[in-house]
Amino acid sequence: MDQNFECPDEEKVKEAKKSTIREKRNREKEKLKKVKEKINNRGDDKKQQKTFLKILECASMKGASNWLTTLPLQEENRTLNKSEFRDALAIRYGWRPKNLPQKCSCGAENTIAHCLDCKLGGFVTMRHNQTRNTIARLLQKAGCKGVEIEQQLLPVEGELDGVKGVEKGDEARMDVTAFGLWGAWQRAFFDIRVFDPIAPSYAQKSINTLFQTHEKEKKRKYNKRILEIEKASFTPLVFTTTGGCGKECDLVIKKLATLISEKTKSPQSIIMNWIRTELGFTLLRSCIVCLRGWRRAKNTHLTEEIDFEISHAQTKTTHHA
Ligand SMILES: [Zn+2]
Repeated sequence: MDQNFECPDEEKVKEAKKSTIREKRNREKEKLKKVKEKINNRGDDKKQQKTFLKILECASMKGASNWLTTLPLQEENRTLNKSEFRDALAIRYGWRPKNLPQKCSCGAENTIAHCLDCKLGGFVTMRHNQTRNTIARLLQKAGCKGVEIEQQLLPVEGELDGVKGVEKGDEARMDVTAFGLWGAWQRAFFDIRVFDPIAPSYAQKSINTLFQTHEKEKKRKYNKRILEIEKASFTPLVFTTTGGCGKECDLVIKKLATLISEKTKSPQSIIMNWIRTELGFTLLRSCIVCLRGWRRAKNTHLTEEIDFEISHAQTKTTHHA
């Protein structure tokens, strides 16, 4: 047996890996092109065609398929039960999930788009907060200091007089803040938005336009205040309910991947994939809850108001009687 086997040159291995990935991407692009052609030739009405193409675009965004390709490891919280899996597919492809009630408790017609947007039950807020917490955890993992959520901004005392569109209220808060993402002493502020790109109200807008609109809106509201008063940076983190993210958010993810990879000495591509999976699962789980979470009808109370002190005193009296 030949004992003088030499490992191939590291550079050559890298190049081979790169070319395999390139080939795979090209194959996927070709496939996507064919599916798009198929949709265009199906003879659906134009509106429906547009929705299908949009769904396809959402599903092929970076990060949107990680939940499908990751190993379903229980200890990593990467498992879905069969009902969650079906719901996840329904959200991904815009199908109506099984057993979805015809009407929502708020009175509206129930659709995926409605479930992902209905404020009743607090699931939409929960989705926002879960995403915020995941971002905060990722910043901590990257070694950032002073990571805080719901940070109140410094008050505006005339510095922004005459500047229109900026949020000047004393109660203004930022979803997440941290030191050390862009530079050691640099403080960064982040505000999160999750939107459903397939919502009928967005039907006329492309996904790119939607990302830009949401990013711009947040920047108009906070950028100047944070730059001038906090002397810090501001980045809007915009996500789709299907797991994609905007350009500004992508830069943050890349920076996080660089920092975590330096810290853990793991390859950046692996960390990048891990970050996208973390975010993807956070969004997916919270969207499934939006779909299946129980929304009680307005004006119905599950429990009477309880006065805990009176209840406690009563218990004590009964006990000693
Ligand atoms: Zn509703």
